[in-house]
Amino acid sequence: MPAAYREAHQNGRLQRSIERSLRWMAKCTLCPRFCRVNRVQNQVGFCRTGRLAVVASYGPHFGEESPLVGSNGSGTIFFSHCNLLCIFCQNYEISHGGEGVPVTAGQLANIMLDLQKRGCHNINLVTPSHVIPQILEALPEAIEKGLKVPLVYNCGGYERVSALRLLDGIVDIYMPDFKFWDPQVADQMCGTRDYPERARQAFREMHRQVGDLQLEAGGIAWRGLLVRHLVMPSGLAGTGPILKFLASEISKNTYLNIMDQYRPCGGALGKPHMGRSITHDEYAEALQMAQDLGLKRLDKRLKNWLFL
Ligand code: SF4
Repeated sequence: MPAAYREAHQNGRLQRSIERSLRWMAKCTLCPRFCRVNRVQNQVGFCRTGRLAVVASYGPHFGEESPLVGSNGSGTIFFSHCNLLCIFCQNYEISHGGEGVPVTAGQLANIMLDLQKRGCHNINLVTPSHVIPQILEALPEAIEKGLKVPLVYNCGGYERVSALRLLDGIVDIYMPDFKFWDPQVADQMCGTRDYPERARQAFREMHRQVGDLQLEAGGIAWRGLLVRHLVMPSGLAGTGPILKFLASEISKNTYLNIMDQYRPCGGALGKPHMGRSITHDEYAEALQMAQDLGLKRLDKRLKNWLFL
């Protein structure tokens, strides 16, 4: 299936999104932090990223969801810094520490092409929300040099709907994480009381753009929404209401990865309510909730777990 961005390049939509996103970056309102700094002039706001995107690492990744990995891996590009900065982040050095190398649009295009050349089934943009303009700017050169695999927008769910509209017809697969349901918890974890409402709006918009996840005959995803949710200790994430929202307001056919890998890291270490991993029972309960709500399209690894 042709990647959406190729048509957007031909019909001028991609160029319009590039121009608009750069205007926003000059008084940055790309995400709900609304820092209003001039990143075109290299000022930095909450995400500490100026004119150029910073890449921490890239390569074929085999730990992602089954429809992204296939036989040759998902072509992940890890962007440094983040617009959320959860206190328990498992990639603390990259997101909080900003480890990485600034790249120009041409260099980012070459990274995408290199991943495609290595057989990756997609370009998996990890933590992309604060570098939307830089990603868009890299695409024309990448497309002209032959990029054709799907683009995956792999984000934390803290998005502005109007920024997502810049990606309409350009991103093929959205892979957001729905992290917290309770505004107070979101505030405590990343200083964003509005996270739950922003995430709900973002999920509706993403699903409007691309629909449910669609797979090719070989089981590889080419378009649609793939949702992640990390179960947290003591029900902190609000797994129940999040799953209910997905089942009732997005689609019962949502492809879902319910993750069990929460580990106390960074600022979560030593905190009584979140200083431990989740229990077997907490995870089993989350999977059961999904089943009871009719969310049966679980990532293959979860299905294996269910039948253990
Ligand atoms: S993208 Fe960065 S600078 Fe822009 S509003 Fe968000 S956090 Fe602030």
